[in-house]
Amino acid sequence: MKFYSTNNKNNLTDFRTAVMQGLADDGGLYNPIFIPSIDKNLFVNINDFSFQEISYLIASKFIEEEISPDKLFEIILDAINFPAPLIQLDDRNYVLELFHGPTLAFKDFGARFMARVMEHFAKDLDKELNILVATSGDTGSAVADGFYEKEGIKVFILYPSGMVSELQEKQLTTYGKNITALEISGTFDDCQSLVKQALFDKDIRSKLNLSSANSINISRLIPQIFYYFEAYKQLEKKSENIFVSVPSGNLGNLTAGLIAKKMGLPITKFIGGTNSNDVFTKFIETGKLEIKKTIKTYANAMDVSNPSNLTRIVDIYSNDINSIREDIFSESFSDDDIVMGIKDVYKKNNYIIDPHGSVGYLALQKYISEIDQDVYQGVVVETAHHAKFSDIVKKANIDIQHIPTRLIEVSKKSKQSIPMSKEFEEFKNYMLCF
Ligand SMILES: *Cc1c(COP(=O)(O)O)cnc(C)c1O
Repeated sequence: MKFYSTNNKNNLTDFRTAVMQGLADDGGLYNPIFIPSIDKNLFVNINDFSFQEISYLIASKFIEEEISPDKLFEIILDAINFPAPLIQLDDRNYVLELFHGPTLAFKDFGARFMARVMEHFAKDLDKELNILVATSGDTGSAVADGFYEKEGIKVFILYPSGMVSELQEKQLTTYGKNITALEISGTFDDCQSLVKQALFDKDIRSKLNLSSANSINISRLIPQIFYYFEAYKQLEKKSENIFVSVPSGNLGNLTAGLIAKKMGLPITKFIGGTNSNDVFTKFIETGKLEIKKTIKTYANAMDVSNPSNLTRIVDIYSNDINSIREDIFSESFSDDDIVMGIKDVYKKNNYIIDPHGSVGYLALQKYISEIDQDVYQGVVVETAHHAKFSDIVKKANIDIQHIPTRLIEVSKKSKQSIPMSKEFEEFKNYMLCF
């Protein structure tokens, strides 16, 4: 499979280069030149396949022989070593729990897979690989965990100072060894912009082997396709309309879902809920991208106002806003709504949903009320464990009874970060001299 740059359809490359470069040299994102379809038989017999077998089948469609089948299966067994259970809320509604990995958010899927693929490719490099990653909260820790102690790789995490939760900050600043946390006085978008500039900077590039681990990297996107199939497998009534609601920020998770649908997975509609950073919701409404200032919200991992993966979505739908609207519904929700959503799910279903999942839940409810349907299967993608956001959950008057051991342990460690302004020159100097 070849991958093209979203800035130039003729700029083609192989999987290895797409992964190791992160961004194309013309600033575009890599997309597969076509979306492979999955044999219909898989959907008939899907319950006979394990999550890892399904994952392998999907990954091999994109990676083909660039990684040997044995090695690819080994990577998948090692990376996807935790489940994605579908929890039933009521007759129609489910939650897809994607937080059973080491950092308790869905980003573990992408980060663990990417780290192993990069480690595999990095074996052939003559010097160390430096990975840059911008994070709005959960990416940083997932990437840190995924790459921790990986041979020949150094990781630099850029995060917006004061805009991630205390626990998230602990999770991404306490690894040490080959992981360095850079605390940027700016927003997530500033962090992302620093990463992009560095990737194109001739001085940095001539000195360092550089790549990026954001959801712009195709090797993070591919493993996010896996769990949509796994969700479908676990649904009982596969013949009804299936709506999948994805709380969205940088749109990587939603893009992966849309790719799953294009591969043949029978999902009727995707719902991309946003918080008050509603650039995507407005885009669906108007067909225009209007970048705004990022606002800090209760669903902070979605505090993104220039979602990088939008260009992938636009490309996958050949720039046709109407066909995008056919497949995607979007709505945005305020912090008050988010708290209300958490309360509502708890009251009705005795389930504690996290603030991001709450956006997904509210968006699904909104869609259902608009189309006025009562025969459907609704799946809310729950992107993180609620205990990571206990301060918000408390606002819904819910007492968290059980905090995962991993979170308790990390909260006891002390933060180690390097503070930095959002000026590129400062970051560049650091990268040239660390
Ligand atoms: C990253 C993240 C999101 C947003 O996912 P995107 O792929 O950036 O749209 C939602 N929820 C949580 C908990 C996250 O960490």
